[in-house]
Amino acid sequence: MTALDSTPAALLDSVAGAIGNTPLVRLRRVTEGVTAAVYVKLEYLNPGGSVKDRAALWMLDAAETAGDLRPGGTVVEASSGNTGIGLAAVAVARGYRTIVVVPDKSSAEKVALLRAYGVQVHVTPGGRPVGHPEHLRSVALGLAESIPGAWFAGQYDNPANPAAHYATTGPEIWAATGGRVTHYVAGVGTGGTISGAGEYLKEVSDGRVRVIGADPETSVYGGGDGRAWYVESVGHYLHPDTEEDLWPTSYHPEVVDGIESIPDLESITLLHRLAREEGLLLGGSSGTSVAAALRVARGLGPDDVVVVIAPDSGRSYLSKYYNDAWLGQWGFPLVTATSAPVVGDLVAPGDGESFAVIPSNATVAEATALLGDRAALPVQLARAKSGAPVAAELIGSFASNSTASTEDPVRDHLAPALPVVGVTEPIDAARERLGEYRGPVAVVRAGVAVALIDADRVVATAL
Ligand code: PMP
Repeated sequence: MTALDSTPAALLDSVAGAIGNTPLVRLRRVTEGVTAAVYVKLEYLNPGGSVKDRAALWMLDAAETAGDLRPGGTVVEASSGNTGIGLAAVAVARGYRTIVVVPDKSSAEKVALLRAYGVQVHVTPGGRPVGHPEHLRSVALGLAESIPGAWFAGQYDNPANPAAHYATTGPEIWAATGGRVTHYVAGVGTGGTISGAGEYLKEVSDGRVRVIGADPETSVYGGGDGRAWYVESVGHYLHPDTEEDLWPTSYHPEVVDGIESIPDLESITLLHRLAREEGLLLGGSSGTSVAAALRVARGLGPDDVVVVIAPDSGRSYLSKYYNDAWLGQWGFPLVTATSAPVVGDLVAPGDGESFAVIPSNATVAEATALLGDRAALPVQLARAKSGAPVAAELIGSFASNSTASTEDPVRDHLAPALPVVGVTEPIDAARERLGEYRGPVAVVRAGVAVALIDADRVVATAL
């Protein structure tokens, strides 16, 4: 039996006082073959439910001190959700109004949470390059400029963001491990968490602590080409139309000794194991981070102590990484084991070989040549390097079009995107989603389009 800690609970003046001092829990079961100790720091135990409460509090305090935010003012931020929630929690208690601009790929739970705190939420469409008027940051900046008394928090370039982790996350890890920590692992979004705590841990250990970033496989931080991925809130996306790729100044890459690039499939598979085997229900970026920590730990010995940040809870993603409808559609392993036939059973080897996608910078002539005798093909955002067509970047489809001039960009002749079905999706679920639709459908495995089949093949299958 484990005795419960008998330290008296804190009596606090406000919700801000409950931020920080989160516990570290040792992983015991997903660590087969690992002799190093791996501890997960549970940031979902912050009052706003994520690591971002720390940065939110530090940014608000700094703005008040500098006089940028005055009584009755309005807090504006661009956020995948958690920073907005952290800001809202502290801001409402201090009498400020909060406006948050979120990308449409943020989970429905995070948007609902923001609204529950009384936040005015603006949802922006994904897939816009930086500088585009509909890009998250442009919308937030526009709002901040037009509202008197508004202050834009700007977590990507606000020094108070990494400073929060230098002042709290780093020292907490050092104290909790009695200075035994040897490796610090964290995902990189704005870079605040890894940079601030990483800097502190290096300083306090005379440079002994290694700092490792956890990054989605295609994110540019780890050397990917920036194409889309499915684990939200970490990594750096690069829209192909981006003119100049600026990294956040909250990220200090010189602090980072290495980056582990983690495919979505590895993150999500591990998330499911953490819930079932460790009793830890964590958010998507925790899957990425713990996967990176396990990779690092496999090369270490019994004297090593790895600390990895789990930024938030799986409760914010019950509609995504723990939801079979979402997992099935994008071709990730389901939470509930099924013996029902799945879409993957319908895919024949030739379906993949003859499959093609049309890059969005193709001309109609080029697209028509690729189309061949197929009814339609998906069109994906084009980038310099070729690679696997990520389902999230299929922006439309092209069917033969006799009225289009052959030199026209295919982009000007897009039909709606083809429906997608996932290889792990039960056939009856795919059939229900397709409804009356007949025609080509893109088959997706772990977020990547791998084949084209006819909807008839799904609909006509005898179950
Ligand atoms: N995971 C989650 C769930 C987050 O909300 C964030 C912040 N966007 C991160 C990881 C990345 O943290 P940071 O911005 O400090 O790099």
